[in-house]
Amino acid sequence: QAYLDGIAALNPRINAYITVTPELALAQADASDAKLAAGQGGSLEGIPLGIKDLFCTEGVRTTAASRILGEFTPPYESTVSGNLKRDGGIFLGKLNLDEFAMGSSNATSAFGPVENPWSRANDPAKRLVPGGSSGGSAAAIAARLALGTTATDTGGSIRQPAAFCGVAGIKPTYGRCSRFGVVAFASSLDQAGPIARDVTDCALMLNSMAGFDPKDSTSVDIAVPDFAAAVARGVKGLRIGIPREFRMDGMPAEIEALWQQGIAWLKAEGASIVDISLPHTKYALPTYYIVAPAEASSNLARYDGVRFGAREKGADLVELYEKTRAAGFGAEVRRRIMIGTYVLSAGYYDAYYLKAQQVRALIKRDFDLAWEKCDAILTPATPSAAFGLDEKHDDPVAMYLNDVFTVTANLAGIPGMAVPAGLDANGLPLALQVLGKPFDEETVFAVSGAVE
Ligand code: GLN
Repeated sequence: QAYLDGIAALNPRINAYITVTPELALAQADASDAKLAAGQGGSLEGIPLGIKDLFCTEGVRTTAASRILGEFTPPYESTVSGNLKRDGGIFLGKLNLDEFAMGSSNATSAFGPVENPWSRANDPAKRLVPGGSSGGSAAAIAARLALGTTATDTGGSIRQPAAFCGVAGIKPTYGRCSRFGVVAFASSLDQAGPIARDVTDCALMLNSMAGFDPKDSTSVDIAVPDFAAAVARGVKGLRIGIPREFRMDGMPAEIEALWQQGIAWLKAEGASIVDISLPHTKYALPTYYIVAPAEASSNLARYDGVRFGAREKGADLVELYEKTRAAGFGAEVRRRIMIGTYVLSAGYYDAYYLKAQQVRALIKRDFDLAWEKCDAILTPATPSAAFGLDEKHDDPVAMYLNDVFTVTANLAGIPGMAVPAGLDANGLPLALQVLGKPFDEETVFAVSGAVE
């Protein structure tokens, strides 16, 4: 009830929730109370959670923050949200995001932007973005409107909003969490993960969310270790790689200072610092912004107004498709569909899509070679703190540059965590990023625990 009251008071300003489900939440809470009174209950029994509105929830409207899904109410539950429910989590509602998770500011949502709870601290007129696409998930945690949230990360969408809102978030290894029932953006990059207040809460959430699922053919059948136990493991004897290519031209001095501070903390805890090279880093953004739209254009072909979601009238089927898609998709989603269709077209496939796949393999190989020298990698999470709600929206390339530190992990399939690590000159949160070997989230948690 306390969380529902908080949502009623703050959501009109923050807009983190698209849908709130008070009756369901209170009924779940009663059931949890009964279980706990009987000495039973799961690992998350009675914990109030928010679910990104990209996860299908049985009987609860799921929008992907797009008009095209209309009043779509799934008849089934995503595996990840189902796992949280199984373990006793209470669902408060569905969280705002960029439309189909395409964006870095939450401003492309058909349900309006989310405001970063750190806004107006210095300047009452300045509203800040929460980051994206999981802006609602990160803002809800920062504003204390949920104790844990689900999120997804295709090219930074867990880590960048967590960084902007001063909270923690982890993108696990590709295949760690099931994609079943998660609305698809770019299937070879999409991965679910938690956003929560700190590293330990993320570990507890991920322990519930993760696990093999036969319903997702890319889900990996590998044991889920005790992530929460790994947080306090320490970093003594670990080798932490510092990739020299992440030291970008024009990187703000305060981001460099934050990075040096993180290095100093890890050294003080007994880690050794090694210089590493990830030579193809500079191709990561262009590669991502070919691969992701290509897969999106294919995945989004299903929204045709016939099978589910919104439908416009047309004289014939083709006109029905055209009108439905023109009315249903926002500008950024249409841009991605056009780019994706272009790079996949017969005349350009080899020049763009095939080339991007080849470069992706090189980016992945950079990491494979780096793991011979180090056990985890430390980088900044974002090139700046949260920016204004009115900035960058007319310049897609400036917006895409936000993802410069995060997209390599998706292209390589490796785990990455954003950890709150300090404040900028204006008092806004900044974060460091910890990257790890495939399926070695335990080391990522150990290093993040030491940075936090
Ligand atoms: N900002 C990136 C994009 O717009 C990442 C999105 C994501 O990870 N879902 O594609």
